[in-house]
Amino acid sequence: MNLITVVGARPQFIKAAALSSELQKRTGMQERLLHTGQHFDDNMSNVFFRELGIPAPCWNLGVNGGPHGAMTGAQLEGIERVLMKEKPDAVLVYGDTNSTLAGALAAAKLHIPVAHVEAGLRSFNRRMPEEVNRVLTDHVAHWLFAPTEAAVLNLHSEGITGSKIQLVGDVMCDAALHFVAVAAARTQGPQVLEGLSGRPFVLATIHRAENTDNSEALQTIVQALLELARDIDVVWPLHPRTRGVLANLGLNVNANAGLHCIEPLGYLDMIQMEQSAQMIVTDSGGVQKEAFFFGKPCVTLRDETEWIELVEAGWNRLAPPTSAAALQTAFRAALGTTGKAIEPYGRGDAARRIADILQASSL
Ligand code: UDP
Repeated sequence: MNLITVVGARPQFIKAAALSSELQKRTGMQERLLHTGQHFDDNMSNVFFRELGIPAPCWNLGVNGGPHGAMTGAQLEGIERVLMKEKPDAVLVYGDTNSTLAGALAAAKLHIPVAHVEAGLRSFNRRMPEEVNRVLTDHVAHWLFAPTEAAVLNLHSEGITGSKIQLVGDVMCDAALHFVAVAAARTQGPQVLEGLSGRPFVLATIHRAENTDNSEALQTIVQALLELARDIDVVWPLHPRTRGVLANLGLNVNANAGLHCIEPLGYLDMIQMEQSAQMIVTDSGGVQKEAFFFGKPCVTLRDETEWIELVEAGWNRLAPPTSAAALQTAFRAALGTTGKAIEPYGRGDAARRIADILQASSL
């Protein structure tokens, strides 16, 4: 099978790190990566290819920035051009970004079967750009690789049924299990950890549009993190989008010595920070699960989550940024807690199962 995988954003590089290495081992499978260019900074893109052994992309479209329609449209055009020339047997896409939708749509219109890794996740909030991307991608996909049972049920309730849905587990679980050992074997860990000299800390990440594009929400989050940082150090690797909005709003995030705003981390540093943190505060999908993989309580600054099993088992608390006081209450309630023992994401063999299914497919 001659496969083209479309990636473009940070979490997709991490997912590709888990699956590409598995595909490379298979006879008869040839995978080439197409990078849309959606994320392009060294610390949002190149570092992952350097550190995680992901094959270098054969194409980089250099499409980033601008409103959703312009970005998705330019990606669609660029991907279509590559697919028309290369005529792959299948196109693989991950998750829910504009690159996911552009890859799926370009392939489907050319009658090239689409494999969607992380199919079936739903927030049931159509105002999220990610929700639109994932619903549309699922409805044109030929293989739907669902990470959880809840994701399978979501697909059923939208009328997608049958053997094209495969419950395989979560490739991010594979990545976390594999790379935690790689990170530990390095001679140098995260620099910011050394600066903390063993003090306990909370790790925060914020990048969802609902938090960054809403200045009241972002102000509330900053106020709550500043208040929390009076009691416990808070380390906040700033997503470029969040850094830009904070600067535009003139929000001073360095007003308290306990709040450490740093550049985005490479994945190996990031998972070591997650392992060392007392608690994780986030609006990221991937980080919610990594908190659970490393046994850390998580507070998710959103109204809803796609990873509901972690809320049900007590690992994760939803805390939409309605007020700094409400966030403080959620932080205090979460610190020091753990959830029930569950295993909703498989045992680190999702990539192997996906590769098995693709390899066995006769197209
Ligand atoms: N991540 C990282 N460095 C950071 C912040 C996050 O490597 O500074 C990793 C994180 O460990 C997780 C992934 O990026 O594996 C999550 O991506 P992101 O939060 O950008 O997107 P989402 O998961 O919400 O789609």
